[in-house]
Amino acid sequence: MQTSKIWAIIQWGLGGFILLLSLVAFSTKGGILSGLLFLLLAVLVSPLRKKILALLPVAFPKMIVIISGIVLFFASFLTFPSSETTQLEGDTAEEVVERSMPSVESEEMVGESNIQSLSFSSSKDIEVQEGKDVSDGYVLAKVNDKNAFFEDDVTFVSGNSEIATIEYSRTALSNYLYYTVNGIAAGETEVYAVSKDGKVESEHKKVVVKVDEEKLAKEKAEAEKKAAEEEQKKAEEEAEKKAEEEKLAKEKEEAETKAAQETKSTSEQAANTAAVAVPQQTENSSGNDAGGGGNGDSFNTYDIPEQQNTEASYVLNTKTHKFHKPSCNDVKKIKPENYGTSSSSRDELMSQGYSPCGHCNP
Ligand SMILES: [Zn+2]
Repeated sequence: MQTSKIWAIIQWGLGGFILLLSLVAFSTKGGILSGLLFLLLAVLVSPLRKKILALLPVAFPKMIVIISGIVLFFASFLTFPSSETTQLEGDTAEEVVERSMPSVESEEMVGESNIQSLSFSSSKDIEVQEGKDVSDGYVLAKVNDKNAFFEDDVTFVSGNSEIATIEYSRTALSNYLYYTVNGIAAGETEVYAVSKDGKVESEHKKVVVKVDEEKLAKEKAEAEKKAAEEEQKKAEEEAEKKAEEEKLAKEKEEAETKAAQETKSTSEQAANTAAVAVPQQTENSSGNDAGGGGNGDSFNTYDIPEQQNTEASYVLNTKTHKFHKPSCNDVKKIKPENYGTSSSSRDELMSQGYSPCGHCNP
C-alpha cells in the first residue's frame, strides 16, 4: 500500500513537471505542437492515464502505451523551437534533454535548415569612418549541428555597398562569425547576415559612415591656405599696380609742371623780347664800350634768378663775351638767348675771347 502511494505521487509529480514543460512550450513562439505533445505525455505519465485507458478496449496492450509514451517524449522535445525558454523555471533538466537531442535532430534536418537563427553580438549601431574599417562584432549562428556548419553557410549583406560593405573575417567556436565593416562614403545604411538558403536572416543593423574629420580638416586648412595665398598675391599685385599708377601720375605731373614752366618761360621770353626790343638796341650799342662788363646787361629789365642755378663754373654772356661767377647779380640780367655756361678754366675762356666781369671778378 505504501509503495503504490509513493509511486502515485511520483507519477503525479512527473506528470505535473511535464505539464509545466507543455506550458513553457505553449508560451514559446512556434511551440504549440510541442506543447500539445507534452500535454499528452503529461497525461500519459500521470495516473490520469488509467482513466483514459479505461475508455479504451480491454484488449489494448500495455506495450503500446509505453511505446507511445517514449515516442511522445522524443516528439515533444524535437518539435520544441530552438532554446528560447532557457530562463524559465525547470530549464536545467529541459536544457540537458534539449542539448542531448540535436544530434538526433540534425541527422534528420541537416541540409534542410541547420541554422536556427542568426543574431548580432550587439544591437548597437556600427559606426565607421569613411575609408576605414571596423571589426568589433560577430554574428552568432545558432545551429543544430556545429559539425555540419560552415562559415559560407552564411552570407553578409550590405544595404548599400556605396556607403559601406561587410565581409566575413573569421570564425570562432565553430559558429561565431566575425565580420568587418568598411566605410566607403559618408552616409547610413544597414547590414545583416542571411543563411545561404535565404530562410534565416538576422536583424538588420544600422551602419553610420562618418566623414573623415582629419581629412576634412586637412582639406579645409589647405583651402584656407590657398585662399590666403591668393589674397596675398592679389594684394601684392594691387600694391604693384598702385605704385605703377602713382609713378605714372608723378611723371605726368612732372611733365606737366615742366611743360607749364617751359610755356611760362617761353611766354615770358616772348614778352621780354617784345619789351626789350628797344633796350636791346641800347644794349647792343652800349655793350661794346662798357668797361664794367655787366653794364650792358644793366640796361635791360631781365630778372631771372634761375640763371644763377648752374653746376658750371662760369656763366657766359655770349653777346658781350663777359664771364661771371654764377652767383653774380649780373647773371640774373643776362638775356636768355645770350645766356651760356662753361666749366672751362679762366685762362681758356680768356683765350676764347671772354673777359671777366668787373663786378664779381671771376
Ligand atoms: Zn659778374
